[in-house]
Amino acid sequence: MGLTRICKQILTGFLILTLSCGYLTAQKKSNFVIVIDPGHGGKDIGARGVVENEKDIVLDVSLRFGQLIEKNFKDVKVIYTRKSDVFLELWERARIANHNHANLFVSIHCNSAANRSAYGSETFVMGLRRMEENMEVSKRENSVILLEGDQERYQKFDPNDEEAVILFEIMHSAYLDQSIKFASLVEDEFVKNGRSSRGVKQNIFHVLRENASPSVLVELGFISNQDEGTYLSTNKGKQERADALFEAFKKYKKEYDEMDGRIVEDDKPKEVEKPVMGKSFKIQFLVSKNKYSPSAKQLNGLTNIEIVQVGDVYKYYYGNTSLPSERDELLNYVIRKGFKDAFVVEFTSNEKLTGSQNYRIQFLASNKRYRDRDGKFGGLKNVLRIKSGKTHFYYYGSTKTYEDAQKELKFVQGRGFKNAIIVIFDGKKLLE
Ligand SMILES: [Zn+2]
Repeated sequence: MGLTRICKQILTGFLILTLSCGYLTAQKKSNFVIVIDPGHGGKDIGARGVVENEKDIVLDVSLRFGQLIEKNFKDVKVIYTRKSDVFLELWERARIANHNHANLFVSIHCNSAANRSAYGSETFVMGLRRMEENMEVSKRENSVILLEGDQERYQKFDPNDEEAVILFEIMHSAYLDQSIKFASLVEDEFVKNGRSSRGVKQNIFHVLRENASPSVLVELGFISNQDEGTYLSTNKGKQERADALFEAFKKYKKEYDEMDGRIVEDDKPKEVEKPVMGKSFKIQFLVSKNKYSPSAKQLNGLTNIEIVQVGDVYKYYYGNTSLPSERDELLNYVIRKGFKDAFVVEFTSNEKLTGSQNYRIQFLASNKRYRDRDGKFGGLKNVLRIKSGKTHFYYYGSTKTYEDAQKELKFVQGRGFKNAIIVIFDGKKLLE
């Protein structure tokens, strides 16, 4: 509950960010800004290490990382949320990123666990789902809130409120792919160093939550572990971590420049990939008689999926692109997520359904029979009700093209029906 208030707050915040940053495209011609955020600081020491504590290790690694960028990239502005041992509230960290129109936000932390044999780095991106094993990390990194004076600021966000979580996810979805890209580069580099990696994970961290930029939270390793804690307290360990972060940044920046249409000096001009005109690609990764909620474990952590009901089955799609390279990346990503049989589906733009077929949005299923314009409909008009067994299903809109159906879906989701799906109809009946 309290969703409306959360929505308003977030949407207002988002609009302000949108207007001031001009969304994604306005970042293009300006210099690249990276915000490096050493976790904790001051009275908040973070995790206790076997040799050194988290706040000190992460500050040292952050400064080394930032210096490498400053030295090698004249077109990159490095901003630190802290450069000394000071306490900073979480929202200030996000504000620093947003006010400086960051292109990338990297929060640096160290792990600890009661089980001292746990070791390995991991990098988190903003995610929809809190996977069970990530709960502990999330609790610890967010526990700083208890030390802060201004608890009011955070209490409005309830990570257990799935709708609020999804809303955050929608806000951040534009940056999720880029965040995952950088996170993967970081973990790849750590592995090249011969260190152990636990991979890229999704989680919710307050420090990432408010950022309007691709954002990751890097856990350098477990300082509660004798071996790793010692390693991360040495100059060698810190420098290797900083070097790896820098290598990841170099690759990310190169790709960013290419995407931006700018050519990097040491690189030959490449042909810019052209989108396939009139087509869009999606990855179909699942067909099931069951409709899973976005947090269902059957979806293996894939977010921003689209569900289309056709007859008595649900088809699950991921991604949407007209670029062949992106299409292949999406497919690989979905396969890596465990859907070995996933495949690419090609949609023809603005292709109309034949005959009396049409797309509608199913937004509600209930054993109650609501009347037209019931308050429950969130203002949606011309709602179609179909009874199946004891359940009434409620549908909105009627469109001929998939693109229009997607617009209707977004509209309905914007009215608070986050689990809405697209359904193919034949006239006013479900397609058999
Ligand atoms: Zn931390």
